[in-house]
Amino acid sequence: MDHQKIKELISSYHDRELDEEKRRQVEEHLEECPECRREFEEMGKFEEVMSKMELKKPPREVWQVYWASIYNRLERRFGWILLSIGAMILIFYGGYKMVEGIIQDPTTPLLLKIGILVLMAGLVVLLVSLVREQFFVRKRERYKEVEK
Ligand SMILES: [Zn+2]
Repeated sequence: MDHQKIKELISSYHDRELDEEKRRQVEEHLEECPECRREFEEMGKFEEVMSKMELKKPPREVWQVYWASIYNRLERRFGWILLSIGAMILIFYGGYKMVEGIIQDPTTPLLLKIGILVLMAGLVVLLVSLVREQFFVRKRERYKEVEK
């Protein structure tokens, strides 16, 4: 079989479309023709890359669901973080403003003042831990994705 015909058969060889005899003819020609061999190898690499890309590429819908779920998760987490930060500011500033009168009033018992301040501090600590938990969960999830 001549050189030109083999060249045409090379892609069919890669696609496994050839019968036994033609495969053998291609292989024999490849042994003795460096030009066809180079083409054969290049085509092999190209197809290898293509098949890997196809394997890695999930269908469009899968991607959409994937991004939507990531977006939802981030959105909810971001919402919680904003809510926590806002609540912290409110408790610190608004809360203090609200009780400022009570705290500054010399007739208010010291124990009540301490109680109010400790309560505010406790709420802030809880909110800080909530925010930290959100960041921690996100880091852990990212780690899990890397592990897969
Ligand atoms: Zn050849």
